[in-house]
Amino acid sequence: MQLTNISVIRDLFERHGFSFTKSLGQNFLINPTICPKIAEQGGCKSGVCALEIGTGVGVLTQELAKRCDKVVAVEIDTGLKPILEETLAEYDNVEVVFADVMETDLKALIADKFGDSEVVVCANLPYYITSPVIMRVLEERLPVSAMTVMVQKEAADRICAKPGTRDCGALSCGVSYYSDPKLLFKVNRGSFMPSPNVDSAVIRLDIKPDSGLDVKNEKLFFRIVRAAFSQRRKQLINPLSAELKLDKQQLSEIFAQCNIKQTARAEELTLQDYAKLCNRVCDK
Ligand code: SAM
Repeated sequence: MQLTNISVIRDLFERHGFSFTKSLGQNFLINPTICPKIAEQGGCKSGVCALEIGTGVGVLTQELAKRCDKVVAVEIDTGLKPILEETLAEYDNVEVVFADVMETDLKALIADKFGDSEVVVCANLPYYITSPVIMRVLEERLPVSAMTVMVQKEAADRICAKPGTRDCGALSCGVSYYSDPKLLFKVNRGSFMPSPNVDSAVIRLDIKPDSGLDVKNEKLFFRIVRAAFSQRRKQLINPLSAELKLDKQQLSEIFAQCNIKQTARAEELTLQDYAKLCNRVCDK
């Protein structure tokens, strides 16, 4: 069944009485070249299992199922159930779990469904939970080797910006702490039904075994990063002094010990700088 063919999709919708729910970010892929690329570049192959978030009518699910040993997909909309029963009928290595991914214990799901196999995450993410889903996979240190996801183009740029460069933010720092992010390719808004108002991009995050940074207190590290970017136009010393309840004189000494400019702004610091800063604050 050609799930990128608009007539096929319309027929499925009509027969099963399905209509789009905009608030669930339901923009389904209709460009036939995209899903095979996501699956290929996402590392789907024999010996690997895939976790998908948001099946839609199963257009990406099918491509994952063709290449991987097993696919488990989490989909919130039970209205898609009869459609997926039809579109995924010929794949006996796919299981769809109808649940809200934000309420799902993904670590337990992965252990239960995939055991010790290598797991990749592949998804065309609903735009309204892009960052929380990505950060959950990373912060919970789910046992996955890579996460290849479609996100809005602006989000892709922010996520892939290198810490220490102008476009970076707290999200890029978080992502780079846990993974090596790469922008794989852009996807035009016309590739979706219905067509959204913005273009998209596919990114791949290769999960690092560890951050490679010697951070004494991860919680404090992320508190510092978040506080720094909460007022990114201001000199770093101001928001940090408020967040850490240290006076500016004390912070100024810590900055000097870390070779950080007194006038530095959040985006000028690399992850190594934030790690040094965090460790010095820990020692205080
Ligand atoms: N993979 C399909 C495709 O590429 O055409 C659908 C992608 S569509 C952008 C996002 C999908 O995520 C929709 O099927 C939507 O119902 C589902 N979704 C939205 N919020 C969700 C949530 N909280 N948990 C699980 N699935 C969700």
